[in-house]
Amino acid sequence: MRRPVGAGRSGKIMGKIMSRSDVDVVVVGAGFAGMYLLKRLRDAGFSHRVLEAGDDVGGTWYWNRYPGARCDISTTDYQFTWDPELHEQWTWSEKHAAQPEILRYAQFVAKKHDLYSGIDFEVRVDRAEWNDATHKWSIHTSTGETITCRHYVMATGCLSVPKEPDINGTDRFRGDVYVTGRWPHEGVDFTGKKVAVIGTGSSAIQSIPLIAEQASELVVFQRTPNYSIPAFNGPAPQYRVERLKADRAAYEAEARLSPTGVPITMPTVSALSVPRETAFEMLEVAWKKGELLEPGLVFMDAGTNRAANDVVAEFMRTKIREVVKDPVTAEILSPRKHPYGTKRPCMDTNYFQTYNLPHVRLVDLNSSPIRTITESGIEFGDESHDFDAIVYATGFDAMTGAIVSVDITGKDGVTLKKKWEHGPHNYLGLTTVGFPNLYMITGPGSPSVLSNMMVSIEQHVDWITDTIIDMRDKGFETIEPTPAAEESWRVHCTDCADITLFQETDSWYMGANVPGKPRVLFPYIGGVGRYRRICDEVRTRDYLGFVLEGSGKRQVNDGPIREIQPDVEMVLDMMATLGLPPIESMSPTDARAFSEASSAMRPTGPNVGEIVDGVLPGAGGDLNYRLYRPATTGPHPVVVYYHGGGWVFGSHVSDDPLCRAMCSMADVIIISVDYRHAPEDRFPAAADDGFAALKWVADNIESLGGVPGQIAVAGWSAGGNIAAVTAQTARDAGGPALRGQLLLTPVTDGSRQHPSHQQNASGYILTKSLMEWFWNHYADPSDRTNPKASPLLAKDLGNLPPAMIVTCQYDPLRDEGDAYADALRAAGVPVQHLKARGHIHTSITMVDALPSGVGPRQKMAAALKGFFA
Ligand SMILES: Cc1cc2nc3c(=O)[nH]c(=O)nc-3n(C[C@H](O)[C@H](O)[C@H](O)COP(=O)(O)OP(=O)(O)OC[C@H]3O[C@@H](n4cnc5c(N)ncnc54)[C@H](O)[C@@H]3O)c2cc1C
Repeated sequence: MRRPVGAGRSGKIMGKIMSRSDVDVVVVGAGFAGMYLLKRLRDAGFSHRVLEAGDDVGGTWYWNRYPGARCDISTTDYQFTWDPELHEQWTWSEKHAAQPEILRYAQFVAKKHDLYSGIDFEVRVDRAEWNDATHKWSIHTSTGETITCRHYVMATGCLSVPKEPDINGTDRFRGDVYVTGRWPHEGVDFTGKKVAVIGTGSSAIQSIPLIAEQASELVVFQRTPNYSIPAFNGPAPQYRVERLKADRAAYEAEARLSPTGVPITMPTVSALSVPRETAFEMLEVAWKKGELLEPGLVFMDAGTNRAANDVVAEFMRTKIREVVKDPVTAEILSPRKHPYGTKRPCMDTNYFQTYNLPHVRLVDLNSSPIRTITESGIEFGDESHDFDAIVYATGFDAMTGAIVSVDITGKDGVTLKKKWEHGPHNYLGLTTVGFPNLYMITGPGSPSVLSNMMVSIEQHVDWITDTIIDMRDKGFETIEPTPAAEESWRVHCTDCADITLFQETDSWYMGANVPGKPRVLFPYIGGVGRYRRICDEVRTRDYLGFVLEGSGKRQVNDGPIREIQPDVEMVLDMMATLGLPPIESMSPTDARAFSEASSAMRPTGPNVGEIVDGVLPGAGGDLNYRLYRPATTGPHPVVVYYHGGGWVFGSHVSDDPLCRAMCSMADVIIISVDYRHAPEDRFPAAADDGFAALKWVADNIESLGGVPGQIAVAGWSAGGNIAAVTAQTARDAGGPALRGQLLLTPVTDGSRQHPSHQQNASGYILTKSLMEWFWNHYADPSDRTNPKASPLLAKDLGNLPPAMIVTCQYDPLRDEGDAYADALRAAGVPVQHLKARGHIHTSITMVDALPSGVGPRQKMAAALKGFFA
């Protein structure tokens, strides 16, 4: 079906004739994004122009007609949800529909909703500039027309500009040349031909088996091997079909709030917590489903931990070896350098099997690079080979290619290309400073290619349309993000990227396939659901991070949208769903049992050389201790460590993962000592035990494997309080002399008057009321001004050992920790002060569970080492 003759020339909207050269909104692109946007704009009564370079709708599915082109998200999910009737009127023939069927679907939707009449085809937008006097964009097209508009939307696709091959001699070849992303509409017959395919990404992996069926000889040139799982194409997955039938609305709502835009059960098992055999059995189940996202989501840590990822990667390599008969070819096809999922995983039908065919050959460009393309073929390694056809499957200038290929000039004459020279800075992946009323659909900084794009497209179209409706309703003409909001989005995107393995790989996600492109993770990796919630929150908080202007009004609602570390937020979200009772509603006995049960579920932390449990004399009786010895040859410096738990719960083993981490990272002996707990033993029992333990360790340091005189204290939370108090007591008692004190989110002031107690009163695990509960159990109000309870209140803070103090942004104790750091510094004590951005009271102790804690722990370990340097 082609569009009806004469379509795209109507100028009618809502019964009025509109000017075609001055409209409310110009949309560039008529793929799925442009199509849905057209529908929404029309329904909302905006005058509009939709300009499309091709001569039909469909975008990706209009251009990519190479053999084997299919969607790799199941058609149960890769389809529009905005028109419920479509589900009755359109039936997909397969789980992974082929390009012609998806294009027919786009045409069907366009016809049903009369979209053809709203689109100008075969019109390319070349240039656009913002006029700050009229508050309008001028859009210049390939037909010589200039259109002015208030709002300008780039629905230009994130995989719509094929990347030029950067190979010598491409112009010389006299045979047939094809590019997968611009395939001839009439198709290509390779029967009896000698064909070269350059590239082994998704398009190549889909097309190679079909090209091999026709070609007399096929040579595939591979630079980087890719992970690919079999599609097992056929009918749509029954379990998804049944869920859709039972409750389509619930299914779609789940997709919108899921991490990837497809409902999926989130993993809770670490790949490192099960034997390899079990891990492979679990992966086999996922692999057999033939669903793109499944194998990467079998284990909770495959995306964040290289060792866990290696389990998945090795499973995939095993599958390749099982299929490919020649072991050398199998090895060349096996990815070894990049973690699974950090390049787009592929789906195939008989891809690896194709290399068993006698007329198919694989060339490894790492050992036999292409020297040049010649008139008749390709010279590579020490060979020269003639071909009838060359197929370039060399990928796309992804995410930004189509946007910056239009010459867009914003305020102050700055072009977007120039602005994005060092990275595609933007706010929410939707807008960018200096370019008012310019919107991008599935652009950089949004989930885009890391999602089921139908879900992402609909979310962006809805956000943009709802925003310009709001602006119309409130009389605003322009919207532009603030520099602070844009910077905070960059930081949030980086925080999300930093806890994944993506940055280890040279991929098109990282812009690495296009010379000169900045190296950043272009899509937002924080997840579709989280992203949607953030975008919604921006609107409900009255366009947080935006300046809106018009009709003599100006609204600025500046501020960052997300500062919390993404993995910390995930833990908080997960805990919120559990509906746990507050600890302060429990008895101390129950709270202790609860704390122990929670600890039993966490990762164990790294191995150390040796662990020794023992007993030492405390101030009021024996105390347990656990010694963590590094694997390196001793003797070692010794750190006496005091556990957290609000003086009420915890023990010498309750911070086990953190102690292991500090021992192995800092190469020091950690001796975690217990102390008496409240309410059975109130103030000053814990403080007295802390000092007694230090003295015993100092007296026995040599027999414990330590270096005499090389001793420091450390502690977390209430343990940080005891460490700080112990350091003061040791100073006042004339010893033991300490080399340092490491205080992680310490309690320093029983008055609890600091603003952070209010600002972070609830929602971040340690709450204001829990802190009150701890203090009430530990010390009478009259004792809380005693420096042995509140070290910040000590009259003299001079002559204390050097300190490393870590405070967390979302911790009620933040300000009292900050105050202690300031006070020590003012008293002449050398202080390193780490203000851990986006962290909560507990997050840095969550070893191997929260990757964002690695950086702070590295700094803590470096500080411990520094104490003894
Ligand atoms: C081979 C392939 C397979 C894919 N499979 C999947 C999948 O299984 N699941 C999934 O979620 N996503 C998949 N994608 C991603 C796919 O791009 C999106 O799902 C979706 O189709 C994008 O729609 P869009 O409207 O945003 O962009 P596009 O479909 O790319 O449409 C953009 C349109 O803008 C037009 N345009 C661009 N620049 C200009 C200009 N300057 N002037 C005028 N017109 C312009 C283009 O001609 C194009 O028609 C795949 C992509 C490819 C290439």
